Amino acid sequence: MTFSFKGRPVDAVIADLEAKRGRDVRWKDGRAFGMIYNGGPSVDEAAERAAALYLHENALNTKAFPSLGEIQSEVVRWTADLLHGPESAAGFLTSGGTESILCAVLAARERGHKERGITAPEMVVPESAHAAFHKAAHVFGIKLIKTPVLEDWTADIAAMAAAASPSTVLFVGSAPQFPQGVIDDIPAIAALAKSHGANCHVDSCMGGFVLPFAEMLGRPVKPWDFRVDGVSSISADVHKLGYAPKGASVILYRDRTLRSYQTFMFEDWLGGFYASPNLQGSRSGLPMAAAWAVMQHLGIEGYIKLTETTLNNADAMRAGIRATEGLRVLGDGTYHLLAIASDPDAKRKIDVFALGDALLKRGWFHDRQKPPESLHATVSNSNAGMIEAYLKDLKECAELVAGQTTDDKSTNYATLE
Ligand SMILES: *Cc1c(COP(=O)(O)O)cnc(C)c1O
Repeated sequence: MTFSFKGRPVDAVIADLEAKRGRDVRWKDGRAFGMIYNGGPSVDEAAERAAALYLHENALNTKAFPSLGEIQSEVVRWTADLLHGPESAAGFLTSGGTESILCAVLAARERGHKERGITAPEMVVPESAHAAFHKAAHVFGIKLIKTPVLEDWTADIAAMAAAASPSTVLFVGSAPQFPQGVIDDIPAIAALAKSHGANCHVDSCMGGFVLPFAEMLGRPVKPWDFRVDGVSSISADVHKLGYAPKGASVILYRDRTLRSYQTFMFEDWLGGFYASPNLQGSRSGLPMAAAWAVMQHLGIEGYIKLTETTLNNADAMRAGIRATEGLRVLGDGTYHLLAIASDPDAKRKIDVFALGDALLKRGWFHDRQKPPESLHATVSNSNAGMIEAYLKDLKECAELVAGQTTDDKSTNYATLE
């Protein structure tokens, strides 16, 4: 399709977009375990009306758009309160988990340089931590030392301690980590960071809008937030289980000094003073306003209900998978992320990637991950009402593919084009 010289009527253009979109994953049917997190019709309405209001606004300059400055401060403060941030806690909105992580890594590097004179910075990152940390190390020229996980898929603390050096500026933990959905030993990682004068970042991109409500529901939650001494920053994605549309995450620091290391200020430009809170320049007001509206609409009570539905569904899924001969759940995660793998001890052999192909034919979309080969599910309110149908298809597909294997071992968390 070439870019035509003559423009086309809006109706024709939109009809084409609708046709294109028809080939995408059917997330509205509740058949995607990840990527889209849907809070239900009234949450959609809040987001869509806020998006229409803020479609054109630009948060580049909050003097021109003071409402976006307020929206940012309020979402950041509400999130800090959920995560038990002290009065001094400060943060910004970013476009997503990756940007929040990039900001946290940059802040750790700058702090190490300014406070400890480190010129060849290093960071210690468990192999379960999100790929965004590797991207950050690549972008900011930091040496990343990857450490193993234990049998239970949590970070190996002894290995992290052994990987540290006088140049370590950052230790990373996840609450929970993406691949198997378990929470690292955050108090141990934070203590390690503190003893080195380094930052401890807790990646709670997935957990930030689940764990606080799980705790309110009386579920056991290991310590992970600002109540843990030594945690310097936390990322929490409003656009995941916060149920806001894409483009909104919160990066939080224990205090403004820690936050100051991620900001950029430049006065020596013909265009005038340039201050930048995150990695963006022009900055859409749309996701910021939509996140604000969704949080206001749901309130803590709304999130508790969504979390209850989500976790009950995830529990039902885990039970159904464990009851399927030849399959197992990796680790003993109790939240909304899980990995389905083949059970080496079972008589019936199941290639989980072949299983994933069979499920996809029935419209169920899992990410494929390795090592080890597994199918990932991020359960959310999007899948409410669908778990029984899913488990029925899972049992049937497991029958179908038992004993078969697929040569396609490719994985696909994120793609280029
Ligand atoms: C999704 C996710 C990220 C990255 O966030 P994006 O919004 O996709 O950029 C980081 N860490 C964890 C644990 C995640 O689940």
